[in-house]
Amino acid sequence: MNASILYIVIPCYNESEVLRTTAQKLKEKMTALFEQKKISSESKIMFVNDGSKDDTWQIIKELHKEDNIFTGISLSRNRGHQNALLAGLMTAKDYADAVISMDADMQDDIDAIDRFIEAFYNGNDIVYGVRSSRQTDTFFKRNTALTFYRLMNWLGADTVYNHADYRLMSKRALQGLSQFGEVNLFLRGLVPMVGYTSTTVEYVRNRRLAGESKYPLKKMVAFAIDGITSLSIKPITLITKLGLIIFLVSLIALIWVLVVKLTGHAATGWSSILVSIWMLGGLQLLAIGVIGEYIGKIYKETKHRPRYIISENLEEQTVNN
Ligand code: UDP
Ligand code: MG
Repeated sequence: MNASILYIVIPCYNESEVLRTTAQKLKEKMTALFEQKKISSESKIMFVNDGSKDDTWQIIKELHKEDNIFTGISLSRNRGHQNALLAGLMTAKDYADAVISMDADMQDDIDAIDRFIEAFYNGNDIVYGVRSSRQTDTFFKRNTALTFYRLMNWLGADTVYNHADYRLMSKRALQGLSQFGEVNLFLRGLVPMVGYTSTTVEYVRNRRLAGESKYPLKKMVAFAIDGITSLSIKPITLITKLGLIIFLVSLIALIWVLVVKLTGHAATGWSSILVSIWMLGGLQLLAIGVIGEYIGKIYKETKHRPRYIISENLEEQTVNN
């Protein structure tokens, strides 16, 4: 059997601090894999410049000039991690037999790549990298992430536990993914929907090489809400149930009020009225808000806007979408 062509896709947003180190490490890994004849020598490392404001794209172009193993595409503007990753995956699938996605900061252990490839040759179309421990994450990040997974699964968004976007996908799995047209992207929820045989590979997550996380709390919360609302309608179901419960409670309250009235003990009780007004008002606003989130999503989907626009592709040097 001929060794397969492997592409590694790395979304990069303002990563000039780590890019060269990352490139060097990945090149060593790829060279070792060539020598062991595990992958074809046409395999490449593809960086996706997600509209960086620093000289990330400049560095990618230099790397490409220095060594053909490096290639890259540049997006017309910053579109966020998920869209940048999708752009890379969709471009790489035309050249590769299998594509591994990973972050630019070397938090994902690159030695897991050997096991990814092995699992791929053993007939898996999708291999999920799963963190075996989160010791190196900050206490805050570890706990917010844990809450996030629990909440997601409880709300019906099936994701692989402790799996982020470090995974291998075969060409046909990527072709499957390309048929999902949604604008609200949450890849780790979509990929399992593609199907095919899959497995998981455990790895230890390291600290960021350098620089800051490009996922501050604000982006993380937005990402979580996005994930839940684009994969599940459980929040709306919950609202319906809550409404039903409140209605039933109000029936009981009505009976109680009538009994009190008829027995002539009508109390002044303005505090209970005040409390219930505030509570119901709050609940109604929350409910409207959740429904609004979904309507907002529907609105975005109906416009069919492109999820990314590629301004440069070092593989082709042409301008296309
Ligand atoms: N990233 C991106 N576009 C963005 C934000 C992040 O392409 O708008 C990339 C970033 O360069 C990195 C990856 O997504 O390769 C993950 O980001 P980061 O490591 O900052 O997130 P964390 O590991 O802290 O969750
Ligand atoms: Mg990171």
